[in-house]
Amino acid sequence: MSAVQQITVLGATGSIGLSTLDVIARHPERYQVFALTGFSRLTELLALCVRHVPRFAVVPEVEAASRLQEELRAAGLATQVLVGEQGLCDVASAPEVDAVMAAIVGAAGLRPTLAAVEAGKKILLANKEALVMSGALFMQAVGKSGSVLLPIDSEHNAIFQCMPTDFSRGLSQVGVRRILLTASGGPFRQTPLEELEHVSPEQACAHPNWSMGRKISVDSASMMNKGLELIEACWLFDAKPSQVEVVVHPQSVIHSLVDYVDGSVLAQLGNPDMRTPIANALAWPERIDSGVAPLDLFAIARLDFQAPDEQRFPCLRLARQAAEVGDSAPAMLNAANEVAVSAFLERRIRYPEIASIIDEVLTREPVVAVNELDAVFAADAKARVLAQQWLQRNGR
Ligand code: NAD
Ligand code: MG
Repeated sequence: MSAVQQITVLGATGSIGLSTLDVIARHPERYQVFALTGFSRLTELLALCVRHVPRFAVVPEVEAASRLQEELRAAGLATQVLVGEQGLCDVASAPEVDAVMAAIVGAAGLRPTLAAVEAGKKILLANKEALVMSGALFMQAVGKSGSVLLPIDSEHNAIFQCMPTDFSRGLSQVGVRRILLTASGGPFRQTPLEELEHVSPEQACAHPNWSMGRKISVDSASMMNKGLELIEACWLFDAKPSQVEVVVHPQSVIHSLVDYVDGSVLAQLGNPDMRTPIANALAWPERIDSGVAPLDLFAIARLDFQAPDEQRFPCLRLARQAAEVGDSAPAMLNAANEVAVSAFLERRIRYPEIASIIDEVLTREPVVAVNELDAVFAADAKARVLAQQWLQRNGR
């Protein structure tokens, strides 16, 4: 391998950002940090800058930027601080950058991730919401720029590893019958249905197998995460929603499977630690140490599988419907979910109301074509307004 690769980490202060920096730090001969971005927790961002010495740091507003710039100077660093969405797009598309870890959570990640795609960067995609919102446009942009798109979501990284290299010819062309997307079932897999009215954000965020940011933790509890991943899989692997089956697998050891027409089913296994898919994507097509402990099959002893229960997890049904309808439906689903999850985390709504809000937004607003980015953001904004109206009408 040639020169040291320059990496931008969007969302460096988050769970995926920190795991990425952990892997990068194990391979200083391969990777150098070009830019780090953060939205809150700016003391942590400062500490990360001291540790990784990036050329640029990005924060959301001017005041925070001058403060961080001052602190960086006092620490003897030449790191330059940029501001806001433009700053994010600049560090995602700068000519020196080889690869961009897209790990901002939610719709806020779309523009910077697309900026990296349009600049032809290698994209390590954790920000699934970007693809859910604008799948057709996103994949067109990837095709146009020749960007290499590597999935970080553990399931999609597993599918990617189990696919033949020429899968872009189409699933049937390469003999794939189905994609089997595994799901842990989250913390409420066995909670009595009547108790779901009263579960707290803390309970929702206490995932049995994975340690993640708060938004994706709630999505995992509601299985909206699996719904978003179903849509993500359709775009990444050019699959129809009917070709993606969700399989509840509580141990989170098999990260997903690919079912071929000859009856072969390939799976990728590993300990539930995001450093494995991150290292896989960073080094692809090579392999590097990720710091993850070897899998101990004797300690795991058994692997279980169940069909998902859509009565318990209505968000999964809503996401599958949005995937089938297409056009603006996934962007609206995603936006309504973001508003509902924030309201739940702020204790303004009860957990089952997350699905009620999304259902109402999708029922009330007609689906429109999304042939340009403005239309995606318009659908996103409309869904947010409708979700806010639900909150107001119900006194939250
Ligand atoms: P997190 O909440 O821990 O981190 C989010 C990051 O985004 C932080 O750095 C935060 O500062 C930044 N951010 C938040 N709002 C922003 C805004 N408006 N503008 C700019 N930056 C903003 O989240 P996470 O768990 O690291 O997840 C990040 C993404 O990766 C999500 O899209 C999630 O679905 C996906 N993902 C996460 C995991 C996981 O294990 N954590 C697994 C698969 C996929
Ligand atoms: Mg996942």
